[in-house]
Amino acid sequence: MLIAINKAHYPVTVLGPGQRIGIWFQGCRIHCPGCVSQDTWAADPGKRMPLHELVDWCRRVGANGCDGITLSGGEPFDQPQALGALLDALHDWRSSAGLEFDILCYSGYPLKRLRERHAPLLKKLDALIPEPYVDTLPLSHLWRGSQNQPLIPLSARGERIYHDYLDAAADQGSKRLQIEVDGNRLWSIGLPARGDLAALEAQAAERGLRLDHASWKS
Ligand code: SF4
Repeated sequence: MLIAINKAHYPVTVLGPGQRIGIWFQGCRIHCPGCVSQDTWAADPGKRMPLHELVDWCRRVGANGCDGITLSGGEPFDQPQALGALLDALHDWRSSAGLEFDILCYSGYPLKRLRERHAPLLKKLDALIPEPYVDTLPLSHLWRGSQNQPLIPLSARGERIYHDYLDAAADQGSKRLQIEVDGNRLWSIGLPARGDLAALEAQAAERGLRLDHASWKS
């Protein structure tokens, strides 16, 4: 089984509680205006990798402590078979190793459509943040990009972990963005408030650093 992945990173601390593994799917058919992850839109065959390699990597980095796994994109539900196989593998790992991490998934599809078309996949998640990103709505809630996006626990584990965060304000977290450097590439992880990325670009320019090919402007 192949899975198209834009990137994977550990530790991620701005997309769900605790120290997490982040996996960004490659490919998104939704194209929300104002999306900051436009580099994930193309269904790029060059980004495909064997699923077992991704899961092996998760097991390796997760040995350092993993509170949760966040699936984002791109659009995870645009690869339903790969998403299902990944979730099965993560469940196997969690139960065989006696771990307690939760699985949180973002989707730009409406909750109603996900319930109609992907109910078996939803059963494998602990929590879901659905609905398209709406650039004209404010970033108001923790871990959500725009005000229309709810946080929905989908399992007993999800209820337990996410109950206190359902209405948490965006500024309740200690930080919104993680910036990671990979060679001459700069990764921004998290959900920027309106103006955050322009401010980042301006501050970089003041220090003589020019940001080319910014994913929020492609
Ligand atoms: S915000 Fe998410 S769902 Fe919307 S276009 Fe960007 S990657 Fe796709």
